[in-house]
Amino acid sequence: MITPKTEEEIELMRENGILVSKTLAEVGKLVAPGVTTLELNRVAETFIRDHGAIPSFLGYDGFPAALCISVNDIVVHGFPSDYVLKEGDIVSVDCGTLYKGWNGDSAYTFPVGDVDAETRRLLDVTKASLYEGIAAAVAGNRTGDIGYAVQTYAESFGFSVVRELEGHGIGRKMHEVPGVPNYGKPGRGTKLVDGMTICIEPMINAGNRGVYLAKNGWAVHTADHRNSAHYELTVVVRKGRAEQLSTFEYIENI
Ligand code: MG
Ligand code: MG
Repeated sequence: MITPKTEEEIELMRENGILVSKTLAEVGKLVAPGVTTLELNRVAETFIRDHGAIPSFLGYDGFPAALCISVNDIVVHGFPSDYVLKEGDIVSVDCGTLYKGWNGDSAYTFPVGDVDAETRRLLDVTKASLYEGIAAAVAGNRTGDIGYAVQTYAESFGFSVVRELEGHGIGRKMHEVPGVPNYGKPGRGTKLVDGMTICIEPMINAGNRGVYLAKNGWAVHTADHRNSAHYELTVVVRKGRAEQLSTFEYIENI
């Protein structure tokens, strides 16, 4: 049973979405060759707490950090570490906050310095596939319409869609129903209704779609060790056009 959010609840989730968005922008200011991923995590955690919120990933099923930081062939759920970012890397940063009882969740993949043209294309296509998914997140559609939109777009560029992980409903809990897969068939899945809040988060691989779980039980790697990108926004389903509750505008105005 999925309960749409009230307008008051959606406003609180929007405040949260803006905080997550600004946190990712703070991280983005620091992304450069020579920086460790632990430094990125530290800055984000401080920023979140300074704004009266809680980093919701920290302690989630035992996750050890405020951010998931996933470099190059890590798809998602990487641990911040003493790894030093180098020119040509890509770094996916996933951030969740708990604020006034509600959750926010967004992710962005940053290039580190100059990346090669094929990597730049992976980032651009993955982000654009997210917007294709958002365009399909309208009342009356189904989750399969979102997945179909993401998948057909990403695959048309020769990239592949990770299927083992998916987007999700969000609200008082970070992960609520429905699941929002990044692949699918039109007209299938859960019906979308006005006021439903969901996270859409394509994970797109440069090579094959296969993945495996690292020995630490968290980090998901591409099986072929080629790069993977991940972008995520929180949106509220509306009639006609979904509304974004988080945004990349703070990042892209750096
Ligand atoms: Mg996330
Ligand atoms: Mg998420």
